[in-house]
Amino acid sequence: MTPLTVLILGGTTEGRLLAERLAGDPRWAPLLSFAGRTASLPPLSVPHRCGGFGGPAGLAAFLRAQRIAALVDATHPFAARMSANAIAATTRAGVPLLRIERPPWRPGAGDRWIEVSTMAAAAQAIGAAPRRVFLTIGRLEVDAFLAAPQHHYLVRAVDRFPLRLPHGQLVAARGPFALADERRLLDEHGIEVLVSKNSGTDATYAKIEAARERALPVVMVQRPMVVHPAAVATIDEALAWVGRLHGSPSTRRGE
Ligand code: NAP
Repeated sequence: MTPLTVLILGGTTEGRLLAERLAGDPRWAPLLSFAGRTASLPPLSVPHRCGGFGGPAGLAAFLRAQRIAALVDATHPFAARMSANAIAATTRAGVPLLRIERPPWRPGAGDRWIEVSTMAAAAQAIGAAPRRVFLTIGRLEVDAFLAAPQHHYLVRAVDRFPLRLPHGQLVAARGPFALADERRLLDEHGIEVLVSKNSGTDATYAKIEAARERALPVVMVQRPMVVHPAAVATIDEALAWVGRLHGSPSTRRGE
């Protein structure tokens, strides 16, 4: 039996874990794809590739050329362009598509969230008076905070990059982050406000807990809206979906 190739758009823990589970099953040949946003990838034991496909048309051509039997979109909840490209390309190429996405975090007792939908709104929500801000939104959209230059920013990102913020300090680190370390970081830097994307991942949730313990406000950037034709929240559900494809008419041509 020739294994069917499943392309997984990664950049998340779910993407890597799904690829590892499929790699252990002789029916499947997973290929994990990364945008190439970070200088290095975490250690990987599965076949992978790096870099964009060239928009929906490029991805559709890739799906056909590589005889991809199914596409699983396990990108970060904020990678909305890639998700939209995946929907368009699979429609064009006639390849089944599944979205796997963790549910967003929800505010609980003691949380002081200010929910906003854009980075520009997040910069405004910090307020007019200068504050000490922990900015944990990655590298790509940090410049949105140039609009609020009065604050001091502690910026955390996977890789070092030149900060253009007038009062900024960079800490380069890759999650997961432990609660004890997040507590220490907030206290050592005298943080007064946390800014975060609502990624929903466990790996970065400790900062939310540490902020709650200190009654700090959290400016929480909500996810962009994407309507996915088929979506699940867990790896087990994704494995069940992939399993049902084996032998289905849509995947037979890949055999
Ligand atoms: P994006 O804006 O949705 O994607 C931009 C382009 O990057 C896509 O059009 C595609 O290029 C390429 N791309 C994205 N994901 C890819 C993948 N898995 N494999 C191959 N190519 C991929 O996403 P983004 O620029 O990566 O990030 C947008 C937001 O998501 C940011 O806020 C970022 O911080 C957050 N985020 C992303 C990742 C990640 O791993 N990508 C991880 C954490 C956070 P082509 O059109 O050329 O195919």
